[in-house]
Amino acid sequence: MDVASNLATIQKTIQAAASKSNRSPDEITIIGVTKYVTIERTAEAIEAGITHLGENRQEGLLHKYEHFKKQATWHFIGSLQTRKVKDIIDKVDYIHSLDRLSLAKEINNRATSVIKCFVQVNVSGEASKHGMTPEEIIPFLEKISEYSNIHVVGLMTMAPHTDDETVIRKVFRDLNALRETVRNKQYQHASCPYLSMGMSNDYHIAIEEGATHIRIGSKLVGTE
Ligand SMILES: *Cc1c(COP(=O)(O)O)cnc(C)c1O
Repeated sequence: MDVASNLATIQKTIQAAASKSNRSPDEITIIGVTKYVTIERTAEAIEAGITHLGENRQEGLLHKYEHFKKQATWHFIGSLQTRKVKDIIDKVDYIHSLDRLSLAKEINNRATSVIKCFVQVNVSGEASKHGMTPEEIIPFLEKISEYSNIHVVGLMTMAPHTDDETVIRKVFRDLNALRETVRNKQYQHASCPYLSMGMSNDYHIAIEEGATHIRIGSKLVGTE
């Protein structure tokens, strides 16, 4: 399917999920995840109106960035090795995978402007997942308050691999509640207006539970 048709379908789903939860579809940003696809297919996504792009590996980000530069807002969504921060730091607008103090330190040292970061949370506690435990978030945020090149704009999570919608929904709901706890702290450096959650198979649930940024790959651009 062409990207424009896929996007039309996704926008309908967003509308329905937003209206179900009394939200405005305008609150929701689609991040087109292009990690599976070519430059040509990525160009098609931009042509269709996608302005936010996400890549999960440093090589992929650099490759796409070379071609499109400031035609898109760039989101780094994959786990980030500390030594690779310097390669992407002046290209990305958002990092969704801040998950440890050493990474925060490196981002803060290398950045030449404020980087908008999501702290990745392993809500479900699956051993295979990256991210900090919910209990670690507040102490972590207190530790990075002096890191003037980092602004924490939100929390990010990945739902567990399951068909059980109840389980997925609970993960998203728990992340939203955790963000509320953070917001109540009124941290200057971690205002947390956003929630990055929901992918191709579960974004409708994520929106109902408060997602502001959904990361869509396969259902938008496909997987090859
Ligand atoms: C690949 C990826 C996505 C998109 O996955 P789809 O299921 O293809 O939509 C979203 N977020 C992260 C972190 C990813 O690595």
